[in-house]
Amino acid sequence: MTRIEREKRVIAKMVMIYCRHKEGNATLCDECSELLEYAKLRLSLCPHGNAKPTCRKCTIHCYKPEKREKMRQIMRYSGPRMLIYSPLTALTHLIRELNFDLGKKKER
Ligand SMILES: [Zn+2]
Repeated sequence: MTRIEREKRVIAKMVMIYCRHKEGNATLCDECSELLEYAKLRLSLCPHGNAKPTCRKCTIHCYKPEKREKMRQIMRYSGPRMLIYSPLTALTHLIRELNFDLGKKKER
């Protein structure tokens, strides 16, 4: 699986956690599924391709303002909950962010 594919899965999980637990929907509501489609599209179009950092570090910067705000809320809500509902995904995501930080420091 490519990095972009993995990133799409992480975002899909986060949106689902948010919609189910914060908004109380059994299935993804229209607004959330639209945002998810938008997020996937942004990832597919990402100029960094598979060398991109994780979504928190990068994705949000290329979002339209209203989408960015909603995605920020979703990440704030779902980020910590990923450890409960999807611990493996959360861990690999976290390790990737740490690696990215370390890689950046080494470049300087
Ligand atoms: Zn929703």
